[in-house]
Amino acid sequence: MPLPKVDNDYLVDFLVKLLNIPSPTGFTEEAIAFVEKELSHFGQLELSRTRKGALVAKWVGQSDNAPVALTAHVDTLGAMVKEIKRNGRLTITRIGGLMLNAVETEGCWVFTSKGEKVRGSLLIDAASAHVYAAKATETKRDEDHMEVRLDARTMSENETRNLGIQVGDFIAFDPRVEVTNGFVRSRFLDDKACVATLITAIKSLADSGQTPTQSVHFHVSNYEEVGHGAAAGIPFDVHELVTVDMAAVGKGQESNEFHATLCLKDSGGPYHHGLSTKLRKIADANGIPYKVDIYPFYGSDGEAFWRAGGDVAVALIGPGVDASHNYERTHIDALTATTNWIMAYLLSD
Ligand SMILES: [Zn+2]
Repeated sequence: MPLPKVDNDYLVDFLVKLLNIPSPTGFTEEAIAFVEKELSHFGQLELSRTRKGALVAKWVGQSDNAPVALTAHVDTLGAMVKEIKRNGRLTITRIGGLMLNAVETEGCWVFTSKGEKVRGSLLIDAASAHVYAAKATETKRDEDHMEVRLDARTMSENETRNLGIQVGDFIAFDPRVEVTNGFVRSRFLDDKACVATLITAIKSLADSGQTPTQSVHFHVSNYEEVGHGAAAGIPFDVHELVTVDMAAVGKGQESNEFHATLCLKDSGGPYHHGLSTKLRKIADANGIPYKVDIYPFYGSDGEAFWRAGGDVAVALIGPGVDASHNYERTHIDALTATTNWIMAYLLSD
């Protein structure tokens, strides 16, 4: 039986909306609520939240003797206010593996503890070419030399505090989303692209009237970028966990923006050989374009569950994403391939 057709417009529309919701790790409530609202349209799903704030959706399958889980994360890189400087600007502390050169000059929001937000942008502290000359290019892009310049009248620490800004306020950088010729270019495709493929797979299956072979728990993680997202929230009786996260594209890599990838090993070591082999067979049988790869500097939420004691087969699939943790890009072909792979897995014996 052929797989249900993937609605590409739905996928991209959902993805663009999710990308435009700020969700640095620790500040993911709005993104989780957005996904929750979308999933609430599907009566087949039982929705719940973990105490840590992750979203879990259970779909009771045709059989319940070997339940499975899939996870993808909505949290992203970001920052917090580290210090309010005497000139009224802010130094930051990074959340996750944010590379400061990748967000230099980017617009950002500072979220105050009172629920307000203040606009600004991130610059080096010697930004003006007419004042600092060579220093403007040579200054190291690190936490000591970069600052948030607020779009508010402040020249002093006190004036900034009067805006309601305090140490520890979350900072989210603009994703700068563009969709052109099937390419989606944006920050934080890691891992919102994969959340979009999960939701689209659910919708496509539901619309076609099909039910997963086994009961399945969809886990939308909110602490992945700091290493412990899926350590909680996945029931310990699941037999398999398929982590859906971006594939690393670059020199020496097999992955690209037009395929899904099966990752066999990353910084956390090899994934489960049996489940990886099963996923290859499923992709082959369904004509899904995929690559097989190894990611040199990478950890996943599947490994977080393993480290938390999960006795389960874990594998990792996802769309190729260029320039990860930088200004990322992928293509609808990779997103469609990943969505089809998820559906084929859910319908497999
Ligand atoms: Zn990720």
